[in-house]
Amino acid sequence: MRTELFIANTWRPAASSKSFEVINPATEEHLATVQYAGAADVDAAVAAARTCFESDAWQGLAARKRGEMLYRAGELLATRRDEMAELETRQNGKPFFESKIDVTMTVETLKYYAGWTDKYGGNVLPVESGDFVFTDRVPVGVVGAIVPWNFPLNLASWKFAPALAAGCTVVLKPASETPLTALLMAEIMEQAGLPPGAFNVIPGGGSTTGAALVKHAGVDKISFTGSTAVGQQIMRDAADTVKRLTLELGGKSPNVIFADADLKAAVRGAQTGIFYGKGEVCAAGSRLLVERSVHDQVMEELVARTKKLTPGDPFDKNTRLGAVVSKKQQETVLSYIAAGRKDGATLVAGGNAATVNGKGYFVEATIFDDAKPGMRIVDEEIFGPVLAVVTFDDVDEGIALANRTIYGLAAGIWTRDVTKAIKVARAIRAGTVWVNTYNLYDSAAPFGGFKASGYGRDLGREALDGYTESKTVWVGLR
Ligand code: NAD
Repeated sequence: MRTELFIANTWRPAASSKSFEVINPATEEHLATVQYAGAADVDAAVAAARTCFESDAWQGLAARKRGEMLYRAGELLATRRDEMAELETRQNGKPFFESKIDVTMTVETLKYYAGWTDKYGGNVLPVESGDFVFTDRVPVGVVGAIVPWNFPLNLASWKFAPALAAGCTVVLKPASETPLTALLMAEIMEQAGLPPGAFNVIPGGGSTTGAALVKHAGVDKISFTGSTAVGQQIMRDAADTVKRLTLELGGKSPNVIFADADLKAAVRGAQTGIFYGKGEVCAAGSRLLVERSVHDQVMEELVARTKKLTPGDPFDKNTRLGAVVSKKQQETVLSYIAAGRKDGATLVAGGNAATVNGKGYFVEATIFDDAKPGMRIVDEEIFGPVLAVVTFDDVDEGIALANRTIYGLAAGIWTRDVTKAIKVARAIRAGTVWVNTYNLYDSAAPFGGFKASGYGRDLGREALDGYTESKTVWVGLR
């Protein structure tokens, strides 16, 4: 596959010829050598996106035509689903079945926004004067999309699909651990007929390539998914050019089991809530809050299930726990496990690094019981397969604990009492609240954070608002 930069529908080496290595975290094997975009390459990509934007080659197309191209990109991707999913698994370490789900959602997201192109617009306003006043939604311009390594292609599509649908042009910077699926996507976008400069991909580092994109005067908006710390840095770097921002940041999401829940379903939800995607999921239900009267029963079932969840070859169809993304991430996760032990939580499952066939950066599915607020495993995002279990006594304490976090990305509630479900869903300060389910996403359902989990929304109609400016046109009639 191509591993150069993709700028204006051409593949080109970095101006400096610098490159970096991509490693398969499950086997420790070298996967690819990829060109590293430096400042001159960021300039070239932004110039290509700017030229495309201003020439009207993309935003000037009939809206339905843009939609047709995005739909075609979705169809082309669907025909290459397994190839794309294989690449995602090789660079990220997640089970192959999960990568297929990721690619399927990317196809859906492309088709979903393809359908919006000729339906999204402004309003006519009934002003007092009786003049003809309308709002138009105009594309914000050149969008820099900066994405993490956990759902490399899927999360990128949450940005490039609505941005392109709105008429913006895109410069995508994938995470340096996982640039390969973004590059394959570039090939598909070109085949789908997108004009030169509409979609560009520039792999590289965060504080170099990413920061250059954020500071670039030719970029109108940064749409970022990643850690809260980097999100804060992006806010600072974006200030000089007054850039628009969408920030999807970290989380420490509570998954709350009430005593009146369907406990079997709740335990399954607790398990997949934290261990799907190896816990490298922004919305992972990493704090399990359990009502005291059912604590022992929940823990008995959850621990028994978790002990069966052993790390495995991501390409084995029975594997439900893949490799974490890198050695560095493995070390971070293990340092949190050490902190949990030191702070006095009770380790009831997992707790160790693992290998598969003697290789790879795996971490066992890990659960700490008797966790308390103030412990690092309760307060901080770990981004790995580590669950902290906290017990509570009544609904008010459950809500208070759920909200006792700087984050507000997602939450889960398990109860058969519909009144309680609605009250608690209203009381929790988070962008998504799942009731009697967890970790479900749909292109139609907006996703994003409250508090330190960021602002702005991916997905749904709301994402389009983030890639457009509202323009008021006032026509005097007297
Ligand atoms: P990260 O913040 O380290 O990196 C994310 C991206 O930002 C990468 O492409 C990186 O190269 C780039 N980057 C790093 N420093 C930069 C800088 N100074 N300027 C511009 N770009 C820079 O995050 P990560 O480790 O790749 O991913 C894990 C984090 O992402 C977790 O905190 C997780 O919660 C978060 N995340 C959030 C969501 C969400 O929707 N809210 C989804 C997935 C992941």
